[in-house]
Amino acid sequence: RSEEAQTEDYLFKIVLIGDSAVGKSNLLARFARDEFYPNSKSTIGVEFQTQKLDINGKEVKAQIWDTAGQERFRAVTSAYYRGAVGALLVYDISRRLTFDNIGRWLNELQTHSDMNVVTILVGNKSDLKDAREVTTAEGKSLAEAQGLFFIETSALDSSNVAVAFQTVVKEIYNILS
Ligand code: GDP
Ligand code: MG
Repeated sequence: RSEEAQTEDYLFKIVLIGDSAVGKSNLLARFARDEFYPNSKSTIGVEFQTQKLDINGKEVKAQIWDTAGQERFRAVTSAYYRGAVGALLVYDISRRLTFDNIGRWLNELQTHSDMNVVTILVGNKSDLKDAREVTTAEGKSLAEAQGLFFIETSALDSSNVAVAFQTVVKEIYNILS
């Protein structure tokens, strides 16, 4: 069996979830296209974007799903979660409410997904140092309690964005291979 045929075996569905305006769409835009939208509206949300990653020398495709603003109305459907093997659970380190809502999103994820989804808790907007409302320690501690990976990112200055996606994809790959 050729290398090429083998790469087709690895297509992982990964979902972005979390409150409105935490930066989900911009994390994806930064990761997939190295773009950032200073005043993005929910309309920039695409259904999904497929991104190739190199994991241990193997080409793996991540199909990353973004909401088109449905989270505003608590209307993320079960179709969104269906078949997901990974999730980025995003809050905004400058808005505590978005961190307080993480438990709700985790519940929703666990309700709608039929398997153990590899999940990373993502504290986004780490560039907003003066406006921080959630400490790194609090993020870490919640992640540990819930058995999640944890990272702080900035879609604006790019820090840790690729690492966040790679962490999830690598772990899925390790589990499935
Ligand atoms: P979504 O609703 O979760 O998809 O959030 P968006 O990606 O649309 O971002 C909401 C707003 O936050 C936009 O104005 C973005 O420019 C801004 N934003 C997103 N990520 C960052 C970040 O890392 N740092 C800062 N300072 N702003 C960000
Ligand atoms: Mg969005």
